[in-house]
Amino acid sequence: MAQLRCRWCRSTSGEIVLDLGEQPACEYFPPLHDPAPDPVFPLRLWLCAGCGLAQLADDADLPDQPEGLEPAALTEQRHDAVVAAHAAGFLPVGATVTEGHTPHGGSWWSELEALGLRRAEPGTPADVVVDGSFGLMHATDQAAALAALVDALAPGGTLLFQFHSLAAILREQQWNAVRLGHYAYYSVPALQTMLARHGFTVTHAWSFPLYGGTVLVAARRGGLPDTSVTELVASETADGVLDAGVVATLQECVDVSSAALRTLTADARARGARVYGYSAASRAVALLYLAGLQDGLLLGVADASPAKQGCRMPGTTIPVIAPVDLVDARPDVVLLFVSDLLSEVRRQLPQIEVTGGSWIDAGLGLKG
Ligand SMILES: [Zn+2]
Repeated sequence: MAQLRCRWCRSTSGEIVLDLGEQPACEYFPPLHDPAPDPVFPLRLWLCAGCGLAQLADDADLPDQPEGLEPAALTEQRHDAVVAAHAAGFLPVGATVTEGHTPHGGSWWSELEALGLRRAEPGTPADVVVDGSFGLMHATDQAAALAALVDALAPGGTLLFQFHSLAAILREQQWNAVRLGHYAYYSVPALQTMLARHGFTVTHAWSFPLYGGTVLVAARRGGLPDTSVTELVASETADGVLDAGVVATLQECVDVSSAALRTLTADARARGARVYGYSAASRAVALLYLAGLQDGLLLGVADASPAKQGCRMPGTTIPVIAPVDLVDARPDVVLLFVSDLLSEVRRQLPQIEVTGGSWIDAGLGLKG
């Protein structure tokens, strides 16, 4: 096996902390009647002992992905992040902005424009650089990608970077947040190390409840971390984000949660219940693939994204259907694979419960 090398600090010292075996690409939805076996890729998480960055061990040449529809919870969270950064004075009127990649959509630009900021001219240093929609984590070369963000800043400028925290993944045992195409899983302590090499200090941090814990940090050259940072560093370190033994506890959750999902679905089917799922989000893919919900146990997964409807869940024969078709099917049980969507889907699809169906939060495939 080729020696693993950190995507950021290039250290070869570290440990595999989670191995999900071979997985289908989580955003490639084959046409429903496409019989070909879907390509699979190794999915392993490695924790660097040098800098503490959790990262995928393997590169994967993934097929193109359809654009998903952004859930309202994500839109609201972005708004909250902009409000927080603005209130703290990091988004002054007239400041210039450069935005990092937004591979899942979710640009901050319209909100920033409304606050009176201007786009920096291409190639011109910006007062504010935003990576607010999970762009940096898509880079296979983390050192090069972070350097590009930092280099886009004018002297005295501020980097605003938002991420789904590794601490939240650990706290809530969200092993299925680890997915192909997302190469890095950040913690505030690891980010401090990474940014310090560029002469940057993480000066402010804000936590949001999305996905169990997203974090926005502000960093600039010089300065000191305020208590929002020092407290988060302390709590995330206590959560074990730098401890391979702690991160590796995710592995135990995989078998437990996928077996629990299979048992619940099989029991419901044995009672004659019609079981569907909701959300073809990436985190549902590994869960369904590992749970092996073939043979008609799960009759379909509804998703609001038209690009996914008429396709099947990657690596399975489970069809992806439109929400209206889910309602028409009058399901007895709907397993919700993204917990944050619960209030949203209950509001949007009241007919599910009116006709006697029930939602079950299966965001982690149920906890044993
Ligand atoms: Zn490293």
